[in-house]
Amino acid sequence: MQPGDFIFRERQPFRGEPLSEADLPRAWDCLVQVMDPEVPVVSVVDLGMIRAVEWSDDSLHVKVSPTYSGCPATEVIERDVREALEDIGFQNPRIERVLAPAWTTDWITDNGRDALKAYGIAPPPKGQGRDTLHDPGPAECPHCGGTDTVQVSEFGSTACKALYKCRECLEPFDYFKCL
Ligand SMILES: [Zn+2]
Repeated sequence: MQPGDFIFRERQPFRGEPLSEADLPRAWDCLVQVMDPEVPVVSVVDLGMIRAVEWSDDSLHVKVSPTYSGCPATEVIERDVREALEDIGFQNPRIERVLAPAWTTDWITDNGRDALKAYGIAPPPKGQGRDTLHDPGPAECPHCGGTDTVQVSEFGSTACKALYKCRECLEPFDYFKCL
């Protein structure tokens, strides 16, 4: 199975008046509903991937920062963003990949961290991006809140996550790696 296979959205062709610059806030409203295909409870906005939404040359431009470099979900996300915007009436939205500055887990919003935790994934600690990539330290168990946790594998359900186990409630969980 490829990333994106498990997301199926029936698209309705847009039949109204095309949206314009005055409708920019609607683009944000739309993007908060585009979920990360690998973590379908967190939107691309809450992940901090949407760097800018602008209007120029008579079209909508959306700047997207990929999360983990080489993450195969990136192309799926860019497609989902473009389709979601087309579906509400933005014609030919331009999706621009922004590589610098590189995305960091510090850009995940508080809302996004709460959603990760509720989904059973330990969110990365805030303000510790990049430096902690190789030594994430103790992760807080999203099930019981315990901190007596141990890394079982460097890779969890996807390459972006590490697999941990809680020694307090004995449950395994994914830990979103810091960048
Ligand atoms: Zn626990």
